[in-house]
Amino acid sequence: MVDLSGQYKKLKSQIDEAIHDVIDSTAFINGPAVKSFQKHLEEYLHVKHVITCGNGTDALQLALMALDLQPGDEVITTSFTFIATVEVIALLKLTPVLVDVLPDTYNIDPEAVKRAVTSRTKAIIPVHLFGQTADMQQIMEIARKYNLFVVEDTAQALGADFTNLETGKTEKAGTIGTIGCTSFFPSKNLGAYGDGGAVFTNDDTLAEKLRILANHGMKVRYHHDFVGINSRLDTLQAAVLDVKLPHLDEYAAVRQKAAAFYDRIFSECKKIKTPATASFTSHVYHQYTMVLQDVDRKALMDYLAKRDIASAVYYPVPLHLQKAYCDERYGEGDFPVTEALSRSVMSLPIHTEMTTEIQGAIAGAVLEFMHKNE
Ligand SMILES: *Cc1c(COP(=O)(O)O)cnc(C)c1O
Repeated sequence: MVDLSGQYKKLKSQIDEAIHDVIDSTAFINGPAVKSFQKHLEEYLHVKHVITCGNGTDALQLALMALDLQPGDEVITTSFTFIATVEVIALLKLTPVLVDVLPDTYNIDPEAVKRAVTSRTKAIIPVHLFGQTADMQQIMEIARKYNLFVVEDTAQALGADFTNLETGKTEKAGTIGTIGCTSFFPSKNLGAYGDGGAVFTNDDTLAEKLRILANHGMKVRYHHDFVGINSRLDTLQAAVLDVKLPHLDEYAAVRQKAAAFYDRIFSECKKIKTPATASFTSHVYHQYTMVLQDVDRKALMDYLAKRDIASAVYYPVPLHLQKAYCDERYGEGDFPVTEALSRSVMSLPIHTEMTTEIQGAIAGAVLEFMHKNE
């Protein structure tokens, strides 16, 4: 689905040098590259504080820990996302309240969020799925009205721009709510060479708390004010990310071009609904995810696999039907849009090393399958 090797080769000398500098310095934990990367990401996102951590899941957990939520407090999130989003809610003994998504953008439905608010609701976690932001204008309005925190899961949309259509103000995904969270998992749009993550906020008090929580609840060495965790971005990973960050926008541009190519080729095919982008957001295409209409998805994926073409289903099982998360509150049929998407979405390779030649072959094979099965 991605070509990390091709991407590395283009920056090989810089990345190799950055890695060797860390090894030479032996500052493996909290070395200078960590501070440098945090500062550069703050500048890129126009946000006051970036605090790096071990991975995107930890980022979400740290965000919820920093908000001082109590067991039983309700956190509203989408039923169509990667498991990490809801996992951290459950781990902290908070109550995940799932809501359905919109059929065109696959992102959380603000009307459904409104309906899910109760007196126990404390936070909303919108996920900016596949690379475009959720409707943050409506989410922030709901949050203001009911006094809720907003934790943005930006693991798939780092670099995407959200525009408030009323004020015209454009902000980076993850910097609009109370705290933003991201992941530097290798295949994410800004990928490390191992695990990594970060939280961002414009709130000084929360930033301080997040730093302390990520470091065993410790501000002064061996004095622990909170129950914290140990979650750090390795200096080696920070060094790699610091080399790659200046290329993030150009990576997004290549993905956007590749998405436009797929859109064009598939526009005539009635069996494919290409992904739509909402008017208030840019799309950085972490995934190119289309909806198949009356297509045997498994047969198509097998057909592609036989031709050495990767494809994937994000996500085949909605959260409310996962064994670990299904409870008496939810059952089949509760989130019809999510359930229909789980059965019909398919993602095609999209990455920074995409050429029209590779893409032509991928799209050609998809169309060939469609014609054969008409
Ligand atoms: C990848 C991802 C995460 C978790 O990130 P890790 O670094 O793998 O822990 C969380 N949420 C979403 C939506 C993701 O795609």
